Amino acid sequence: MCHRKVIRDRVNLVELLLQFGIDIDLFYDCYVAYCPLPECGAPLFVVDPEYGNTFLCFGCGFQGDGLDFLTDIVGLSCGDALEFLSEEFGIPIEELRGNVCWEARVADTGHWEWEPAIKMKHR
Ligand SMILES: [Zn+2]
Repeated sequence: MCHRKVIRDRVNLVELLLQFGIDIDLFYDCYVAYCPLPECGAPLFVVDPEYGNTFLCFGCGFQGDGLDFLTDIVGLSCGDALEFLSEEFGIPIEELRGNVCWEARVADTGHWEWEPAIKMKHR
């Protein structure tokens, strides 16, 4: 199983964002926050825990899952981010290390409607 699916199935994105101080409000049946990208900050950052634990900012188009958040916003390396998710959510690390992140972003679009985040600023 690709680790992207493992992350989307088992990482509670709302819980993860709250841990990093992202202020999330429940708005009808969606979770909405201010976009954590400093150059954006629009109050249009929507988290969908029902649909694969993914986020999308309608202000700047930034999107992804728990792993994208840790690498692109928190600034962890991919390996560190996977270890963090493993410890925090009790997912065996070998289940998370199935693929190299950046390839998986492009390759694993299964059951995910939004385009995978192509943000390579740390590479
Ligand atoms: Zn944004």
